[in-house]
Amino acid sequence: MKKQIIIVGGGLSGLTLAYLLSKHSLDSIILEASPRLGGRIQTVSGAFETPLELGATWFSDMHQNMLHLIDDLGLHKFKQYSKGKSLFQTKSFEPPQQFNVPESESPSYRLADGTQKLITTLANQLDTKTIRLNTKATVITDLGSILEVETSKGQKLKADKVILCLPPQLVGSQIQFSPQLPNDISKILPTVQTWMAGAIKFVLEYENPFWRNNGQSGMLFSHCGIVTEMYDHTNFEENRFGFTGFLNSNAHSYSKDVRRDIVVKQLASLLGKETSNFSSYFDKVWIDEFIMSDNQIIQRPHQNNGHPLLQHSYMNNKLFFSGTEAALEFSGYMEGAILSAKQIIDRI
Ligand SMILES: Cc1cc2nc3c(=O)[nH]c(=O)nc-3n(C[C@H](O)[C@H](O)[C@H](O)COP(=O)(O)OP(=O)(O)OC[C@H]3O[C@@H](n4cnc5c(N)ncnc54)[C@H](O)[C@@H]3O)c2cc1C
Repeated sequence: MKKQIIIVGGGLSGLTLAYLLSKHSLDSIILEASPRLGGRIQTVSGAFETPLELGATWFSDMHQNMLHLIDDLGLHKFKQYSKGKSLFQTKSFEPPQQFNVPESESPSYRLADGTQKLITTLANQLDTKTIRLNTKATVITDLGSILEVETSKGQKLKADKVILCLPPQLVGSQIQFSPQLPNDISKILPTVQTWMAGAIKFVLEYENPFWRNNGQSGMLFSHCGIVTEMYDHTNFEENRFGFTGFLNSNAHSYSKDVRRDIVVKQLASLLGKETSNFSSYFDKVWIDEFIMSDNQIIQRPHQNNGHPLLQHSYMNNKLFFSGTEAALEFSGYMEGAILSAKQIIDRI
């Protein structure tokens, strides 16, 4: 009989795992708590349909598993634009410093059509019936030869193997195990930092790339404004334009409208009044239940990522950890999410 495999989490790691399993003729079911696939990858569309990234955006030549997956799926990458004058704002009462970023031997890449294309392409390789949205795994019980996964919809699903493809911190706060997981791993789970939890990303869309026409790269770093980092966000075809970047963590306390107004004011003072003629603004504070638990006992970035206890199997070799925070290398990044899925294939 074919093995039943349940994947908890429909982010990059869960979908890559389901795709790799299907290549080995193994079926799986993906349980995804939220109403959409992609997790920390979320591309939204502007008024002119510019792909705008609220989550993961960049990768590099070091990310070999990501590059292979993109090739395998027939997707295309392109270099992050950086030509022209970039700005560094150290003090609010002094003009910004200007600098040119030299051509890098190891450029940052983006995915043509947006990072979400990776998610939709992976999902398109799978049978839609195997993907269950709005379905949170809540209880996992060891029944001896198999596991039972209880969901927020009250279903009780049986599986030979369950692979947890979500931040370990959420495993600890959202899923009950019967019998309980061993003490050592239970203690570690709340201390594994979820990469980018709490980050605030914003995107702006424009009809014209006025900054490029003014000899500017659109790249900006600031120690004093609400925008701390920003980059040109023109699409692959170079016919849709915008910016993407990060806001400082205090911005969380403002409403979205206030954040937008402060962002545009800062940019207008640096790049000119054309900044106010945007066609779309979106931002996202990454603190919801699909990324973060209430209990934050984290002191440093990447804390306990790739921890040895996340490499073990549990419940008699039926329960495994995947997801980027479990990866032994590049944990936190898309590369780690793919690598962790590949590591599971080798282990099961
Ligand atoms: C703002 C931001 C910017 C980033 N920028 C970059 C970048 O430029 N480059 C880069 O490489 N990486 C970046 N990252 C990190 C990258 O997005 C992640 O490494 C990667 O997407 C993680 O994939 P994953 O599948 O391991 O986890 P996730 O994407 O977190 O997927 C986990 C999934 O599990 C679901 N889930 C949660 N609880 C349950 C439950 N109980 N039952 C079922 N499902 C559940 C969640 O809804 C989610 O869909 C960024 C992340 C953020 C937030």
